Amino acid sequence: MASEGKTESKAPDYASMPGLGDGEYPGFPADVAPNPMPDLSQHNNIAAKYLRAHPEVYEALREVKTSSGVGLAKCIKTGMDNKGHPMIKTVGMVAGDEESYTTFKALFDPVIDERHGGYPPDAKHQTDLDVSKLDDTKLDPEGKYVISTRVRTGRSLRGLRLPPSCTQAERRKVQEIMTKALATLDGELKGDYYPLAGNTSYAPKPTGMTAAEEHQMREDHFLFQEPDSTLLLSSGMGRHWPDARGIFANHQKTFLVWVNEEDHTRIISMQKGADIKEVFTRFVTAVNQVEKVVKAEGFEFMHNDHLGYVLTCPSNLGTGLRASVMIKIPLFSQKPDFKDICVRMRLQVRGGAGVDSASSGGVFDISNKDRIGFGEVQLVNLMITGVDRIIKIEKALEAGDNAAYDALVAGIPASS
Ligand code: ADP
Ligand code: MG
Repeated sequence: MASEGKTESKAPDYASMPGLGDGEYPGFPADVAPNPMPDLSQHNNIAAKYLRAHPEVYEALREVKTSSGVGLAKCIKTGMDNKGHPMIKTVGMVAGDEESYTTFKALFDPVIDERHGGYPPDAKHQTDLDVSKLDDTKLDPEGKYVISTRVRTGRSLRGLRLPPSCTQAERRKVQEIMTKALATLDGELKGDYYPLAGNTSYAPKPTGMTAAEEHQMREDHFLFQEPDSTLLLSSGMGRHWPDARGIFANHQKTFLVWVNEEDHTRIISMQKGADIKEVFTRFVTAVNQVEKVVKAEGFEFMHNDHLGYVLTCPSNLGTGLRASVMIKIPLFSQKPDFKDICVRMRLQVRGGAGVDSASSGGVFDISNKDRIGFGEVQLVNLMITGVDRIIKIEKALEAGDNAAYDALVAGIPASS
């Protein structure tokens, strides 16, 4: 994963960029939803489609606010500004605070149900971080296909508004709590905080990383991209960029915590190669340890029995877990039904540089597609089973063995 791109020497003028400066992204208002409801006949995202069919829900919630002042308008702005695509079903809404999910339940519940393929309002979500239940299958023993393995989740700090709605002061508070808490970690998790270049709110490093360091962190797949899609920008999560954003990393860069990207925190365990057991074991230790040090600072994570871990995007509720491999499969990935076959195995395919990126050289990021209704360990096991089959499929294609290929694909249960 060597650096190939150009090294930017100067930070862009974020303040003047829509959605990255102080103000809200232009378009649908972020404070109060207008009357009447906009024309949604051309919208394809889940939230907008529901509102189109149930304008009474829009009417009833239009002026309602949570106790911290988050309105319906803030939650649906991204889905109003971004019509969506008939083939790519986006959610079309985000939460501005923990209470959004209850105050605007009449809309969130059906959206969550549809996004997660059936998750009724009375469903209970079970956390399962028991490493001993992990599938023993050893992925890619020859080290030919899997380049690296990663498990991530998100966690939010109760009592502080989420990135789409928080004030600049609240966002800095998240950074302050997290950096104080993470600084107390020990052993393998011990590390340092690297504020983004131009983030001036972390006193020990008052100008942040250099642009070159930041660029390298991104090239190495450790660091998030700056929000560039209108989907993210219009949600409000990019305001005051890059203030109070950064990444905590242990010395080996196998344990990372993103601060104030789409969620208050994202916790990541990753390393080269295919040793998912080692990656998941470190992940479990990391989430437990981070929770402990956050508690020691007097805070807890947003969580409830129905939604599991409460995060900004309804698509991440539950476990927030995405277990992925970066995998080189130049033959299988050329099959026209490659992505459909992956989806049948409950897997999601991304390009090699993160969500919405293209793939190059047959390298893809393949992960579990589900987040809720399964425990963490079950989701990782689905990924292991699926990736094991994908490697077998690639080998069958390498050998030119069409019968083996057909049998492997036919063996995937249609209902899975
Ligand atoms: P997230 O689900 O964490 O938001 P993104 O799709 O935004 O993930 O990707 C964040 C970064 O993590 C990108 O650079 C992506 O390539 C990298 N990444 C994801 N999975 C892996 C993996 N298994 N190995 C290496 N890098 C990975
Ligand atoms: Mg992301």
